[in-house]
Amino acid sequence: MKVYTTTFNVKTKSRVEIVDVTDDVVGAVRESDVETGLVNVHSRHTTAAVIVNEPETGLLNDIVSVLSDLIPEGAGYEHDRIDNNADSHLRAILLGNSVTLPVVGGEPDLGTWQSVLLVELDGPRTRTLRVTVIGE
Ligand code: ZN
Repeated sequence: MKVYTTTFNVKTKSRVEIVDVTDDVVGAVRESDVETGLVNVHSRHTTAAVIVNEPETGLLNDIVSVLSDLIPEGAGYEHDRIDNNADSHLRAILLGNSVTLPVVGGEPDLGTWQSVLLVELDGPRTRTLRVTVIGE
């Protein structure tokens, strides 16, 4: 069994932004030389998330809008007394900080409409994602 790990950086431009990182993940899986196994994509941050979904512009706007409805900015959170980004942490917890996908034929086994998306929730910042591939 092989274990391969690497990181890549994403520079975000807005406070809340969704970035398609599928190409970076596919690139890491190809580099790993793993044909069959699993790939994990992990956000090393408390105010960014990783999800799998469709990067259609209207849907991306809907995700941002629903997050802001569910967890509005500045709604009296205790953490806002420390660094004023409680909504970012809470939204990140809701979405999750990693995804794991099957690797089949040397590629992440994504469906036709699926992409790996980094959800920036307290940008703009430079984010680091770690990709770990295991298998053979
Ligand atoms: Zn904070």
